[in-house]
Amino acid sequence: MQSDKKKVYIKTFGCQMNEHDSERIAGLMAEAGYDLSERPDDAQVIILNSCSIREKAYDKLRSEIGRFGSLKKKNPGLVIGVGGCVAQQEGKRLLGGGRLIDFVFGPRAIHKIPEIMERVSVDGRGVVEIGTTDDKMVDANMKRDNGITAWVSIMEGCDNYCSYCVVPYTRGREVSRPSNNIISEIEGLASDGFKEVTLLGQNVSSYGKGLSESVDFPTLLSSIEPIKGIERIRFITSHPRDLSPELIDAMAKLSKVCEHIHLPLQSGSDKILETMNRGYTYEEYRKKVDLIRDRIPSISVSTDIIVGFPGEDRDDFHKTRDAVMGIGFDSIFLFRYSRRPNTAALSLDGHLPEDLKIERLEEILLMQKEITSRKNRSYIGRSAQVLFDGQNSKEEGGIAGRTRTNRVVYAKGDSSLIGHLKEVKIVSSSFASLRGKLLENSINA
Ligand code: SF4
Repeated sequence: MQSDKKKVYIKTFGCQMNEHDSERIAGLMAEAGYDLSERPDDAQVIILNSCSIREKAYDKLRSEIGRFGSLKKKNPGLVIGVGGCVAQQEGKRLLGGGRLIDFVFGPRAIHKIPEIMERVSVDGRGVVEIGTTDDKMVDANMKRDNGITAWVSIMEGCDNYCSYCVVPYTRGREVSRPSNNIISEIEGLASDGFKEVTLLGQNVSSYGKGLSESVDFPTLLSSIEPIKGIERIRFITSHPRDLSPELIDAMAKLSKVCEHIHLPLQSGSDKILETMNRGYTYEEYRKKVDLIRDRIPSISVSTDIIVGFPGEDRDDFHKTRDAVMGIGFDSIFLFRYSRRPNTAALSLDGHLPEDLKIERLEEILLMQKEITSRKNRSYIGRSAQVLFDGQNSKEEGGIAGRTRTNRVVYAKGDSSLIGHLKEVKIVSSSFASLRGKLLENSINA
């Protein structure tokens, strides 16, 4: 039977934080009486949850606004909202004069969505709620599709002011969420059958700053570990400067904390790290990676690298290339520098031409492909624990999951295995994934 409830279509741009914000938006819209729609054409409300961290995501948003604008011409009753970082930055400028966009809300004003929807329907058009840095993290019911793995926000905003980054201007200063709220959300997830949580924040390692309780990130991890039903704990992102020996100790001791860390290096050149305002040298970073590998030998380390930062000369680039080769990351998110509004890097000398940035990006990409493929090959013949979380859409009777080290594994298997931890033997590998065979004694376990 077709539901006659109103529908909202949500389109998300950017990182996990934004994906998670969209789950909060969906939960709040459900409370306001809206079902999620898979297609924009069926919706009465369209929400674009924007990202401005890279120029590309910003450009994509602009083209989507144009696309949905033509839908609005056909259906003038359609309500369009823009949330996220671009909304925070642009505020009422986004409304423009053409009445294409009806409401704008920043990441800190998500909890005000029911009120915003009310105002849109009563006042007509043009509601702007960007929130302020005083708005604390407000708990909201999430609408999560996947009943196996969940993101849990533990902090929001950032005090680091890296010179290329818009986050401190869009998401504001760092605010941590009280630990009892986090624990009770995770207990609720466990009782709903979720097996894995990923703790989210721009800099989870500095969790606890500013809270009235005395709690830090290692303590928070220790409080989550005993929650029955949760089998795996992950977190993202850690700032290398704040990666403490205590956190490494907690990761080594707590059996549910997975052997994976995302530790953005950004550049191998100390000169560039300094102009980026990263707060560490390459040597300091390298020592932390050595320490964590020493304590947790099976750990997989991923990173972010920016090439073509203003002032990056050939020698700086070679240092980054040598760092990537020397450390041997399991995977890399590679970006070329793009100018972002309000950031300090905008006014630096020595902006590089795009073709040079692309050339450098491709050089590292090629190198990293070889490193990741080699690391993946080293899994062949070994067994690994996999949490299966979905079907493999490219293979009939195929299922997909992840190892504790965050590698994607495909296997042949019954869909009843989805949601379970199983042992597989890795039989082949590629740059992007592993292929496993379920171990007999694991299937029936
Ligand atoms: S640590 Fe730097 S790059 Fe990361 S969110 Fe904060 S300012 Fe941005």
